[in-house]
Amino acid sequence: MGFDTYAPSTGDFGTAWLLAIIVPLIFALVLGIVQIIVTVWVYKNAKKNNIDSPGLWALLCFFIPFPIGLIIYIVVRNGKKKEVVSGGKFCPTCGTAVNGPGFCPSCGGKV
Ligand SMILES: [Zn+2]
Repeated sequence: MGFDTYAPSTGDFGTAWLLAIIVPLIFALVLGIVQIIVTVWVYKNAKKNNIDSPGLWALLCFFIPFPIGLIIYIVVRNGKKKEVVSGGKFCPTCGTAVNGPGFCPSCGGKV
């Protein structure tokens, strides 16, 4: 009685119900994987490009939905790259890009 008598008559409705659950689940899973890949990529890329606090950028790209976080990162990174080109100086202690003479933003050493 109860569910047992109802179950065999579900037919197409049962499949549709399953799809309604599985399709958004797969969609969310794919988005989640993309989000993780982007986060890892941003972290490695920020480290490679000497961007300040790569962990913070990775967190930002993890919590802001793809591709908005990634776009913000790339825009800021390109801006920093131009700064580096015009400033053209690197810290002799840790290799962080610095803007002109002064103190290193990363290790505090004199540049
Ligand atoms: Zn330094």
